[in-house]
Amino acid sequence: MEKASIYGLTKEELIAWFIEHDERKFRATQVWEWLYIKRVMAFSEMTNLSKDVISLLEENFIINPLRQVIIQEAKDGTVKYLFELPDKNMIETVLMRQEYGMSVCVTTQVGCNIGCTFCASGLLTKQRDLTAGEIVAQIMLVQHYFDERGQDERVSHIVVMGIGEPFDNYDNLMNFLHTINDPKGLAIGARHITVSTSGLVPKIREFANNGLQVNLAISLHAPNNDVRTSIMRINRSFPIEKLMDAVDEYLEKTNRRITFEYIMLSNVNDRPEHAQQLADLLKDKKKLTFVNLIPYNPVSEHDQYSRSEKADVLKFYDVLKKNGVNCVIRKEYGTDIDAACGQLRSKQIKKASKTR
Ligand code: SF4
Repeated sequence: MEKASIYGLTKEELIAWFIEHDERKFRATQVWEWLYIKRVMAFSEMTNLSKDVISLLEENFIINPLRQVIIQEAKDGTVKYLFELPDKNMIETVLMRQEYGMSVCVTTQVGCNIGCTFCASGLLTKQRDLTAGEIVAQIMLVQHYFDERGQDERVSHIVVMGIGEPFDNYDNLMNFLHTINDPKGLAIGARHITVSTSGLVPKIREFANNGLQVNLAISLHAPNNDVRTSIMRINRSFPIEKLMDAVDEYLEKTNRRITFEYIMLSNVNDRPEHAQQLADLLKDKKKLTFVNLIPYNPVSEHDQYSRSEKADVLKFYDVLKKNGVNCVIRKEYGTDIDAACGQLRSKQIKKASKTR
């Protein structure tokens, strides 16, 4: 059987594991420091552990479960990584250099079952959930990218917006969040972490009670059920009214702002009347909501969709602003590399199947 990655254990689980193996609790603190402060990639480098403890760890775990297959670096500093998992499946991770720090977009599933009709990732249905260790490892490998180059940079922000629906892999997502947020480890502040969901209503309610101050983003992409159902299958199970009920409950419980993601598709959801409908939808929660207008990156398999004209995006933005909605047109990253989420992975899979 494949050994699991030790990155998948939260601090509490690591302590429990050592106690279960008749070792002292402080071993967990030592190992945690080696993993997340000194960031070694082999148990044998943990020099303050006895040979027996190192052997025990080696018998039960690996550290890094990912193999870097491709790395694409864009002119604006964006870096896209394609990683291979132990079962040979592939995932993407993206590093974006922002004015406020180094932000990493992580993947939570191999493929995705939500089936948004404009998305490159959704073309490949879900094969499996990522383990917590595989999600944490994405951050660790990006941090190693800096460490190896002697760059004094730290991954400071995380967006859980890569391939997959994070709330469909909820327990592993929560373990991942606790690990990266641990103040004695990577110490990535909860307010620097954003989890994005396509709108799994029961999980939005559960997330409201998670006790972490992590930000929530919702992929709305349409202001009414007709348009939303046509581009997001999930809207059949959780239509906008149900989604907004969960949003209200979340806002009331947490008093934290929600970001709505809105991908601009020409002549689909980008008309001024759509902007007005969106403003109406948010009118009683303007203080606690924010809209991100996202330019669409065309995907060859979805040629029914194209990017909205700049003038249409600006018109849409103006209608929202006039209605007092907080919004921004999202800056684009890595436009000279495979920019659409999932594009690098789907290209690689096609290439591999042609050579088979
Ligand atoms: S947009 Fe997100 S939720 Fe929708 S299919 Fe793509 S990866 Fe899945």
